[in-house]
Amino acid sequence: MKDHSLRIDNLHKRFGEREVLRGVSLQAAQGDVVAIIGSSGSGKSTLLRCLNLLEQPHEGAFTLAGETLALTRDRDGSLRAADAQQLQRWRARLAMVFQGFNLWSHRTVLQNITEAPVHVLGRSRAEATERADALLARVGLTHRRDVYPAQLSGGEQQRVAIARALAMDPEVMLFDEPTSALDPELVGEVLAVMRELAAEGRTMLVVTHEMGFAREVASQVMFLHQGRVEEQGVPCEVLAKPQSERLRQFLSGGL
Ligand code: ADP
Ligand code: MG
Repeated sequence: MKDHSLRIDNLHKRFGEREVLRGVSLQAAQGDVVAIIGSSGSGKSTLLRCLNLLEQPHEGAFTLAGETLALTRDRDGSLRAADAQQLQRWRARLAMVFQGFNLWSHRTVLQNITEAPVHVLGRSRAEATERADALLARVGLTHRRDVYPAQLSGGEQQRVAIARALAMDPEVMLFDEPTSALDPELVGEVLAVMRELAAEGRTMLVVTHEMGFAREVASQVMFLHQGRVEEQGVPCEVLAKPQSERLRQFLSGGL
């Protein structure tokens, strides 16, 4: 199987004077599911957004399948991709699924899924459509193919967003609280799709508050606190035997 391992080294990010990521490192092997947990404001979204270069970090290196992304320093001291084409390719290799779905509201479900493969990957419309139909079948939404996002439930919208991410054949999937915006009865259908992806051996980073999912599906748990990795390890250790008072408080719902 192709190597889809991911490494983040010593990631720092400031917003103005505030350093919100303070030396975060992570290693995920091919097929690892890393659950990223931590209280609101601990830097979880910023970590994923830096990795996808939606935010510019101030220090750090990203390595995917042995290839380190070339970064260059801007005048303000932050880092950006050295090359625009490489950046586009990098983003396609690490597909992101957001809390708020972020579907294009004026495009149908099918168009949401085919748009990037056609325009970014240069696939033919026919090929992109064929692949989109297969992905829609996978997430159980074939019957919703030609409707607009507003006609879908939140759970359906998120499943379309996952299909859209998969259409790019990403090496790593990034999920930022993919079920947090959903009504409780819709959470399960999205987690079920994510469980399948994990079972297929996909490398995934998942910011989540779903501790059951983290316990059962994750191979690693990372607990962020104020921009630092406070604890990290296998779920049966980190979640069952937290070492720090902060993680104990977090897990008992006190943070
Ligand atoms: P989490 O996802 O863990 O809730 P975030 O990564 O969103 O945390 O935010 C970490 C910190 O960075 C927070 O204090 C937040 O207010 C701050 N922050 C996030 N995005 C921005 C931004 N665009 N400008 C300024 N501060 C930001
Ligand atoms: Mg967040």
